Amino acid sequence: METTAKTNFIYELIDKDNASGRFEGRVHTRFPPEPNGYLHIGHATSIILNSGIARAYKGKFNLRFDDTNPSKEEQEYVDSIVEDVKWLGGDFEDRLFFASDYFPQMYDWAMQLVKAGKAYVCDLTADEVRAHRGAPGEPGKDSPFRGRSVEENADLFERMRKGEFPDGSRTLRAKIDMAHPNLNMRDPVMYRILHAEHHRQGDKWCIYPMYDWAHGLEDSIEKITHSICTLEFEDHRPLYDWFLDQLGIYHPQQIEFARRTLGNTITSKRKLLELVKDGHVEGWDDPRMPTVSGYRRRGYTAASLRAFCDEVGISRVPGVSDIWVLENSLRNELNKTSPRRLAVLKPVKVVLTNYPEGQTEEMDLLNNPEDEAAGTRKVPFCRELYIEADDFKEVPPKKFFRMTPGQEVRLRAAYIVKCESVVKDAAGNVTEVRCTYDPATRGGDAPDGRKIKGTIHWVSAKHAVPAKVRLYDALFTARSPEAVPEGHDYKENLNQASLEVLERAMLEPSLAAAAPGSRYQFERLGYFFADPKDSKPGAPVFNRTVTLKDTWAKIEQKGAPGQPA
Ligand code: ATP
Ligand code: MG
Repeated sequence: METTAKTNFIYELIDKDNASGRFEGRVHTRFPPEPNGYLHIGHATSIILNSGIARAYKGKFNLRFDDTNPSKEEQEYVDSIVEDVKWLGGDFEDRLFFASDYFPQMYDWAMQLVKAGKAYVCDLTADEVRAHRGAPGEPGKDSPFRGRSVEENADLFERMRKGEFPDGSRTLRAKIDMAHPNLNMRDPVMYRILHAEHHRQGDKWCIYPMYDWAHGLEDSIEKITHSICTLEFEDHRPLYDWFLDQLGIYHPQQIEFARRTLGNTITSKRKLLELVKDGHVEGWDDPRMPTVSGYRRRGYTAASLRAFCDEVGISRVPGVSDIWVLENSLRNELNKTSPRRLAVLKPVKVVLTNYPEGQTEEMDLLNNPEDEAAGTRKVPFCRELYIEADDFKEVPPKKFFRMTPGQEVRLRAAYIVKCESVVKDAAGNVTEVRCTYDPATRGGDAPDGRKIKGTIHWVSAKHAVPAKVRLYDALFTARSPEAVPEGHDYKENLNQASLEVLERAMLEPSLAAAAPGSRYQFERLGYFFADPKDSKPGAPVFNRTVTLKDTWAKIEQKGAPGQPA
């Protein structure tokens, strides 16, 4: 497996620590998701970054569930996250941890701070705590409970844990400084009371640690060296350091980087959940979703996501990456690895009037021009064929080199044919195109050297395998779907045409046996993936992973509510 290139500022910081011997040359990172949703492309960045660093330094990488908030967490999310991290190449070996397993140790450490006079039980409500907090440049007010004795605090905190008090009635707070210039340092809450069922701990606990208190302890327990997180935690770093210093325990280094944001995409678990619940998509793994499971089901490879992360890199400056960069890294890979096949998505029938009835020829087609070892295959050819409806125009626009009356066109690796007439139904739709073929051009080349500008793909009507094919477009029309003005909702930016289902595409016969989860290039149409859930040998269902060429110019011109076109 390839490693993430050593190109970002985090590597420099780690090199410095290694040079000074700060962590005895160890490098140990972690990915700490909250199990309250499926992972998205932002999380993928973090997994690829953290596991890539561990791999580059021959260090270790942990997967740790930050399951400190019982109300929104579910086993389904835990399972999906484990699968996604493994799929992305995040090798945590046997180091799969749950923060909730550290609750007893965290409680003991909290009691240690209580006994040292550095934490107190506060009876203010959440609103009162907020009101006492002050504002930037304006000091907060001490809680009236700040002066409680160590004995009273120890007694009350223990009784909080035993469940003697109702939800929200008390908190445990660090005793730091209510006038501190950094608001995070103004006596932050460490524990709240919450009588809730925890997905692993059941009702063992009714006090739950806050993120700022818990996170550094989790890192410390696991002997993490570099705790990498997103920029919004920069102002929390002094608190991360304060807790560890007060306890005098092993102290990792927190490092922040800018969140990954992708154009025409949202990366908020809350909003992704809303799209699932409200039926805007078919589930967390809908191939239009920016979730890891969505990308996987669409046919993306883990290697292409890693290549994308390497290409875009990480930094401390927030920015929006373009989807076409991701798509290009995917095309680069699929171009080299995908077998080519013939498929017609929107079929129109062609009859070769001078071709013998009942005759079948086997045409030789290259499996992959990028890979000689892939060899060739036989594709049957007959008097009746399907071609792509778009490849025929009765009245052609300028420079139309495909099939149109009176013009010769090449059928890929077969013959040169010429359209002589069309058959229409009562409504005037073309139901059949009648052509003649030139028997001297088998393989597709004219012996007299005459130039044929257009080449189109085909399948034999008699041998074709009908299939369902799903085409996708961006889920959102706006580049920054969440940036909507007052009174608007990000869902107004949903692309109403993000899914097109073709119920009766026609495939070359070899695709009848396509294994679910296999990838192909359908010539001239893009890269396609046999859906791992819906596709069955004999009844294939294909998702288009990506088109052959970049189509983003078209999409970005579409306007969106409250956004310029
Ligand atoms: P969301 O806002 O979608 O709920 P989160 O940050 O609350 O995301 P966590 O489960 O806490 O979700 O995230 C786990 C890890 O993934 C954290 O270390 C977080 O910093 C990182 N992460 C989350 N979103 C992104 C992103 N867009 N880019 C990079 N890293 C991210
Ligand atoms: Mg979070």
